[in-house]
Amino acid sequence: MTDWDQTDDVGLMLKKVRGIASDRQLMFFACGCCRLVESKLPAVRYLADRFEKDAERPMSRDEKWSILSAIGSALLGDIHPILRQFLMGQDNDSWTMAAQVASIGRMFEFNGAPESLEAAGPSIPRNSASQAQVLREVVRNPDRNIEFDPRWRTDAVRGIAAAIVESRAWDRLPILADALQDAGCEDDELLQHCRLADHLHRPGCWALEYVRETPERSSPNPGDPV
Ligand SMILES: [Zn+2]
Repeated sequence: MTDWDQTDDVGLMLKKVRGIASDRQLMFFACGCCRLVESKLPAVRYLADRFEKDAERPMSRDEKWSILSAIGSALLGDIHPILRQFLMGQDNDSWTMAAQVASIGRMFEFNGAPESLEAAGPSIPRNSASQAQVLREVVRNPDRNIEFDPRWRTDAVRGIAAAIVESRAWDRLPILADALQDAGCEDDELLQHCRLADHLHRPGCWALEYVRETPERSSPNPGDPV
């Protein structure tokens, strides 16, 4: 076990994957954070639905950015013009935007809407077990290195992965683990992830993304740490 597996400090986790997590992964994380509060802010459900559906076709960086901005706007727009101004007024990269969506999500998860931006900063909870779980689901443990052998991507493995994504059939991930093992995969982290309880998986599951060869690394943003 590492800190990554155990911590609920979402800010710390995000710092750890800055420059590692792709725009796509950050989008899935932001969507997951929206899902956690959608009962309180129903508008975010539509936006998360739209992104998760659109994620299955190639999108330009501008398209991704506009969707993430819209999610941020919806999270804030219903209730907090001051916070919307704060979020939308900055020319942020997708890491920063995802971190802000997560911060705002934690406010709604625990505290409800703050009185003002000044009041919001110190009161944003650092920890959220549910957001930490979402981040662990879409970004693999950065402390461990998986060398994915392309020979593991057999027709059977690819077919099962595609069917799981198509049907959102997370309960079939253990079958994917079996197929990976049949293909010679001995990577415990990958196999164990596939065998987690199905309620822990969601769109953007890193194991499925690995198998399906979706783009993982972002192109560097200006100002990103090198
Ligand atoms: Zn998963």
